Amino acid sequence: MSGDILQRFSIFSLNVKHLSRFPRFSDLTPSSLPLPSPTVTASQVPLLFREPYILSGYRPIQQDWRCYLLSLFQRHNESLNVWTHLLAAVVLLIRWWANVDALGYTLDAASLPLSLFLVSSFTYLFFSVTAHLFQSHSEHAHYFFFFMDYVGVAVYQYGCSLGHYFYTSQPAWRESCVGLLFLPGAVFFGWLSCAGCCFAKARYRRPYPLRRKICQIIPTALAYLLDISPVAHRLFTVSWMGEPSLPFHALQIASFLLSALFFSCPIPERFFPGLCDFVGHGHQIFHLFLSLCTVCQLEALFQDYSVRRDTVLEVFGDRQLWWACVSFPALFLGCTLTALITMRHVNRQLQGKQDREK
Ligand SMILES: [Zn+2]
Repeated sequence: MSGDILQRFSIFSLNVKHLSRFPRFSDLTPSSLPLPSPTVTASQVPLLFREPYILSGYRPIQQDWRCYLLSLFQRHNESLNVWTHLLAAVVLLIRWWANVDALGYTLDAASLPLSLFLVSSFTYLFFSVTAHLFQSHSEHAHYFFFFMDYVGVAVYQYGCSLGHYFYTSQPAWRESCVGLLFLPGAVFFGWLSCAGCCFAKARYRRPYPLRRKICQIIPTALAYLLDISPVAHRLFTVSWMGEPSLPFHALQIASFLLSALFFSCPIPERFFPGLCDFVGHGHQIFHLFLSLCTVCQLEALFQDYSVRRDTVLEVFGDRQLWWACVSFPALFLGCTLTALITMRHVNRQLQGKQDREK
């Protein structure tokens, strides 16, 4: 009897031991998959990868590509940069379906700008996620993925412009000089912001001079000022009573301005070097505010679309609508070509550097 009890007790304690061993990530992955190496300090990665005031949490370079994919589940200084935009994509999708249910949506010519806005949002989120996930592989990868990130931003700017022009703008603004030149201007400044960012990244080395920020910020700011002009005009000229989209438009502007502040200045890590390496550095806060801006834009554009969808074709005409929408893939292509041409130039520079080091 006592032997039976002892045997049962030993089986029970074995089971408890098993349960108490919390499965680690390495237990869940097939043994053939390479696992990401532990993170290292700033001094252990090349200068190109070091971020100001971020002292640790860097992934070593030249690991297998799969290690960077699996680093999605590793704690490093880019983890939250990836997850913030992944979660933003999920929230965007949920809000899209909720609005489709509540306000209605049919895929036709009138809804094309709204659909392209959604496509542009997913494009920038996708390129941002891949850039933050894979850029640590090598200097080539770092440049390539960030150039594609700039392509995503330019496409997103144009996606917003389409939504603002066709659903939000007022007749008086459309008849102004800015309104008449808005669509070709949005294509040009979208491309210019991509080209300016690619040029500045390829041209300047760390520690970056102020000229680099100027090359990146001025074209992007010009593109934003143009893209937001129909919204700003409506916010200042129309009564907000009975206009449910306007608070969302005001929120998207406030979120964007805050995101621009955190993009341009390394705060709060500047005041606490090393303390914000994993959680809380400025780029993560920039991602959060930009995601909030995109979600507010979606809400606002859906509200505007639900009011104007029956008159869009009548007001703008088939031809203008189709030209504006065809410009979307054309801009995507133009920006991708610009990024690839700049990449070719960077490849030559990196090759020259490698040859000199031999
Ligand atoms: Zn980012």
